[in-house]
Amino acid sequence: MTANSRCSAAEPPGLETQRREIESLLRECELRAGDSWYVVEHRWFEQWKEFVETGDQNSSSFPGQIDNVELFEDLDSYHLKERLVENEDFILVPAEAWHKLLAWYGVVDGQPALERKVVDLPSTLKVEVYPVEIFLCLHSNMENVITAQFSRADNIQSIQRVMCQAFSAPPGSECRLWMKSSDSNCERLRNVQMSVLDACLSSGMTVIMETRNADGTWPSSRPQIMRNSAEDQDSYQGQPGVCGLTNLGNTCFMNSALQCLSNTPPLTEYFLQSSYLEELNFTNPLGMKGEIAEAYADVIKQMWSGRHYSVVPRVFKTKVGHFASQFLGYQQHDSQELLSFLLDGLHEDLNRVKNKEYIELRDADGRPDQEVAEEAWRNHRRRNDSVIVDTFHGLFKSTLVCPECHKVSVTFDPFCYLSVPLPVSKERVMEVFFVSLDPYAKPVQHRVVVPKAGKVSDLCSALSEMTNIPPEQMVVADVFNHRFYKIYNADESLSCILDRDDIFVYELSVPEEQQEDQVLLALYLRERSHYRDYGSGSSSYGTALFGHPLLLGVPRSSCSQEALYNLFLQRLARYVRPPDPSEELEEEEEEEDDDEEELYKTQTNGISDDEQQEDAEKAGPSQTEPCCGDASANGRPDGTAAAEPLPDLNRKRPSLDRGDPETGNGAQNQPEPPCGADTITADGPNPRGASSGTTDAGPEPPAERTPQACETPGEEREEDKQEEACSPSPPANEQQAKRRACRKRRKSLFTIQAVNSNGTTERGMGEGGSAVSFSSQPYVAIDWDPEMKKRFYNENEAEKYVKHASMEVPQQQMTVQLQECIELFTTVETLEEENPWYCPVCKKHQLATKKLDLWSLPEVLIIHLKRFSYTKFTREKLDSIVDFPLRDLDFSGCLLRKNPTNGEPPSRYDLIAVSNHYGGLRDGHYTSYAKNKDNGQWYYFDDSKVTYAREDQIVTNAAYVLFYHRQDKIRKPTLPAPNTSPANDATSSRDDNAELGAAPYVTMETD
Ligand SMILES: [Zn+2]
Repeated sequence: MTANSRCSAAEPPGLETQRREIESLLRECELRAGDSWYVVEHRWFEQWKEFVETGDQNSSSFPGQIDNVELFEDLDSYHLKERLVENEDFILVPAEAWHKLLAWYGVVDGQPALERKVVDLPSTLKVEVYPVEIFLCLHSNMENVITAQFSRADNIQSIQRVMCQAFSAPPGSECRLWMKSSDSNCERLRNVQMSVLDACLSSGMTVIMETRNADGTWPSSRPQIMRNSAEDQDSYQGQPGVCGLTNLGNTCFMNSALQCLSNTPPLTEYFLQSSYLEELNFTNPLGMKGEIAEAYADVIKQMWSGRHYSVVPRVFKTKVGHFASQFLGYQQHDSQELLSFLLDGLHEDLNRVKNKEYIELRDADGRPDQEVAEEAWRNHRRRNDSVIVDTFHGLFKSTLVCPECHKVSVTFDPFCYLSVPLPVSKERVMEVFFVSLDPYAKPVQHRVVVPKAGKVSDLCSALSEMTNIPPEQMVVADVFNHRFYKIYNADESLSCILDRDDIFVYELSVPEEQQEDQVLLALYLRERSHYRDYGSGSSSYGTALFGHPLLLGVPRSSCSQEALYNLFLQRLARYVRPPDPSEELEEEEEEEDDDEEELYKTQTNGISDDEQQEDAEKAGPSQTEPCCGDASANGRPDGTAAAEPLPDLNRKRPSLDRGDPETGNGAQNQPEPPCGADTITADGPNPRGASSGTTDAGPEPPAERTPQACETPGEEREEDKQEEACSPSPPANEQQAKRRACRKRRKSLFTIQAVNSNGTTERGMGEGGSAVSFSSQPYVAIDWDPEMKKRFYNENEAEKYVKHASMEVPQQQMTVQLQECIELFTTVETLEEENPWYCPVCKKHQLATKKLDLWSLPEVLIIHLKRFSYTKFTREKLDSIVDFPLRDLDFSGCLLRKNPTNGEPPSRYDLIAVSNHYGGLRDGHYTSYAKNKDNGQWYYFDDSKVTYAREDQIVTNAAYVLFYHRQDKIRKPTLPAPNTSPANDATSSRDDNAELGAAPYVTMETD
């Protein structure tokens, strides 16, 4: 085998040099428009960092080739998955750094380099990880659609150029472009100088091109689908305010926030009456020169005109993007963040204070709260005076106490919304795969409840209750890309495990003889390929990991190559078919010299890496503790025994069925005749007994073998022999036998190779004899030739798994009262280390206690439920149901101000709008419920779609931001509530809508 004789194009420099070079490139490289950057998978990069920081060239942290596999939607198109997050899923490296890494490590075969350009967008420079992907077609033939990618910085003209070329428009012909969004509004792209960003073209939209007819007319003038919504004068007279908002590409967060604000009566009336015109503040440096306010006013006026089913908030979105680069549509955003930005932007654009005076804040210094609060509010109003302050601002009291000198500091601060925490469950639900010892049992997916602050051992205990397997017989591992990303210690914190990790728990057998030493062995599957990867810094060229890795306990005495071979065959029995006696199994081997070394090597069961053969072998019998790095610390030396079975499954979304079952099984197609292998055959494939030494017979386990086989006395005897055989200097008279043995062994289904934790062959292993000893290297790979794999490895079966009943039980939802959240908001807390308070008495930073109290509340109170929880260790979305009242939310009990002065408004509120978030941390959809101020009816707004809603639908675990209106300010609806029974479609006079009548609620979607 030549597995080790790699030839690498560029021998990488030392690790320290690598680290320095890459780090300085990352540190010093600035974004420049037009430059190329490259996307690299975060995990790979982290592994590399660990390698160069802690490793030596032989380290098990060797990262192998650059592997971006987790970033791709599939391996055909190599499209990036949606919504990948920088520094979490990937990192960006400048071109120079990429080229160095590429030269040193290579990239996994077939993967394209992910080159991305820096684009110059208003107020920001960004690497455009996701260019805009647009469909292009001709008006005359809308069936013929092509896909093209553009940068947001490209202009419309460049799209036109691409289209003229792609559709072979006659030179000189006059063209017009239209854009069509997902809900099929069409709009002319008049200004060809406008950028893709400003035109709000986003992925998934279609651009249609038409060319002027010879008679001077335009094809689109014929009545067809080219209705321009802006010019569309359909005289729809619906209920003002009941109007959808077109999704401009991941803009549902914006639409949701806009609908809530649109249904906030005092604000909307302010804009509808054009009061804002007198208050636009063009000079406020904190504002947006009035542009946000004007764009907002424009949207509100359209929505309340009663003339539209849906409005396209394009200009508004563009303005928001210009002023807050974080909202420049790459990914989903947070409706609450947008709301916060928008309220602030509107406030500054409409601030009646033209020149802000500097006001020094005074501490309370023991003065009465009332006095300090009034002073604070007065000061706030002197600098901030707008419809936003009038409507949304309240005041809370913040009390800090120094733990050392007990200095009390009181301040009163304005707020625009309350961010209230949700009680965090102390428990956590985890989904894990349990891999039993029974080789014929498929892995079972379980859902277990564990303490959030628990340890890995708690996970094992929870799983033990379902499986009746003692927790001490389990090892927990994170499987990633067919290998172990991490094998956990029992006492490691569960917070190390993220919900998206693929966690496998392996059952280990109990050693029969207590005194027997066990090795915890990690087993990988690899397939050889017939070509080399040039430029790879790895010696692993020519093999690719596949299938599911396995952890198994092996008695130290069973670590000979042969014993392992048999053991693996048993463990893999569910999907590795042992050869049938009539089948030939020769394996092609390149090195064919028969000198003693060779012999020796093969004898040991053939494993692969020639040079290291000897080592592995020696090491074999003398293993040390249960290894696996982490696992050894596990205090689980028992894990073990010989013959466990092994199931397995596919890491990412294991599929229950794959298209081609049985790929591997059965077929009698023979492998190509071995070329180099003189040998073989004579004895037939089943060598048992063929010669004295033979036991080694890798290939021997015939189908009938039971999993227990290797525990039989016979087997042990064989092992003994094997060990003998392995001894460095076999007696001369055994030579012959050995040679024969070795030939037979050639017929193995696979060979066994010591590898590092990444599944790559150890660097340096092949070089001196000493290399890595098995004891420090408890990872092995079994290497398959593609042909053998095809015949004997049943991929379909290997991927199977079953779901435990616990997966079917609906997860019960925690319900909490809104009042509890508000109480949590006002609970005393101790400041965190990262955010201490400077005590003016002690003259140093202190971890003070802090208490917030509500002092005064605004007319419209926005309550943000903090569902997204980020701590040092965890990131999660809390999906508890928060039970909030639709009417009579009463704050009188929790307002600090006990003696309301005269004219003090009551503190009871009714709900007017809710922004909802569905989905998880990184993706999801926003919608809203809101009550129309004119008719008192609730509606559900889902982008361009609007439906009637009932009050009992509003409280769900999706509720994210709540809008409450103080009762004394609420005006009675001026119109009767519409009849919402399905029979009555008064509001839906528009019946070109297919959904009409079908749904219980009337739909008013735009075309
Ligand atoms: Zn102090």
